[in-house]
Formats: sequence, structure tokens, C-alpha cells
Amino acid sequence: MQPMRKLIIGANWKSNGTIQSIRSLVQTVLNPAIIDYKNTEVVIAPMYIHLPIVKDILKSDFHLGAQNCSLTGPGAYTGEVAAEHLKDLGIPWVILGHSERRHIYGESDAVIAEKVKRAGALGLKTIICVGENLDERVAGTTTEVVSRQLDAIKYSLSDWNNVVIAYEPVWAIGTGKTATPEQAQEVHGSIRLWIGSNIGRLVANSTRVIYGGSVTDENCKELLVLDDIDGFLVGGASLKPAFKTILEICD
Ligand code: PGA
Repeated sequence: MQPMRKLIIGANWKSNGTIQSIRSLVQTVLNPAIIDYKNTEVVIAPMYIHLPIVKDILKSDFHLGAQNCSLTGPGAYTGEVAAEHLKDLGIPWVILGHSERRHIYGESDAVIAEKVKRAGALGLKTIICVGENLDERVAGTTTEVVSRQLDAIKYSLSDWNNVVIAYEPVWAIGTGKTATPEQAQEVHGSIRLWIGSNIGRLVANSTRVIYGGSVTDENCKELLVLDDIDGFLVGGASLKPAFKTILEICD
């Protein structure tokens, strides 16, 4: 990573944990981690119903994020949680466009763009996920797919200061297969190029582009030295003691 960008590590806990297990994770793994928060921003994203519990016990050096928000505002939308509700609860971050939302819940580029717009308009900070599936990688269309996903959000964002792009190749998520440093750098570089030509050079230099997909305490170091990797979005390993090691290695 480049020193002008502040490192950012996200923990995506997905639909995991019990009240007891998340309390223990906060108390034994997160709060004791020794890192310099001036250099590193850490965003913890538990599931919605755990957000208030984690908020109560998490050290204030950490930030909280949701894993999704609704396409709609508050109102007669059974089962949905709107960006307004996150704001009301004091949750500053939201992850949008995660591949599990795209592929399991059928969220299209257009739906994600609308969510990005709604969250951004309320001043929420967003981690926007992009990435190709295995067929797309094999077909050599990775850059095309990622550019298409970025094109979709181009007009949804007014403040790029509040945006982090997470490159998460779908074939690497939860599979134990991490992108090689070369593969990751190539896509991260292309994301920065996209930002440069579509938004502006200064924004391209300042926007954090993070990697996600089977990040562990063993592979994070070799990825972090790459020019265009500014941190990680960690799934499975963020639920384990190894996450403390990841935070301490990255610091
Ligand atoms: P993983 O998940 O680290 O378990 O591969 C990453 C993610 O889905 O954000």
C-alpha cells in the first residue's frame, strides 16, 4: 500500500455467531489487539441484531458497519433495515454489493447502485464489493466484469471520501483459495485506473481499494506490500483469534 492512504481492515462476520460467541470475540480478540489506530482503521460488521450488543462492548477505537441495507427507506417494507435505521443507531459504515448479496439474493448492479446512492446520501461510509466469479476469470473477463460493476455505481456516489472498494473474487471467498499477489495487484491496479479515468486522478490516489477472499494471518503480509492494496475485508478469519494477528501484522 501507499503511505498516503490509511490502511483499513473490515471484519465481515456474515450470518454467524451467538450473543455469547460474539461477546467473547470482542472481549478476547478485538479489544486486546494492540494496534496504532492512527494508521489503521478497523470496521467490524456483525449481523444487524448483534450491532447494538457489539456497540456496547467494543473499544471505541473500532468502527461498526452493517453488512447490507435496504433498497428502500423506512416504512411498510417487512423485514428490511434501511440506511436511516443504521444512521439512527450510530452505525457509520455499511458493506454493499457483497457477492453473497449479488449471487444468493439476486441483487443486480442496478439494485446495488440504488443502495449505494441511498447510503451515500445519508452520509454513511460504504465498502462496495466487486469481483468476478470463476467462469468469468477463466474466460479472461475479470477486468470487464469489475469495470461493469463500477460503472453501475458511478452516478450513485457524490462523496468518494466515504467510499472503499473491496475487490473480492467470488472464487476466493470462503474457499481457502486466495488470489495470488500478481492476480490481486492486477485487478486492484485496474480498479484504480477506472477511478482515475471515470472520477479523477486525485480520487484514484486517495481511495482505498481492499482485498477480500480467504485472507488469513498467513497470507495477509504478502498482499499488503503491493502498491494498490490498502487493506482487507476478512470473512472466516475475522471470527477467529487469528484476526488479532491479522490486525497486528497489518499495523
Ligand atoms: P472469507 O470471506 O474471508 O471467508 O473468504 C470474505 C468475504 O466474504 O468478505
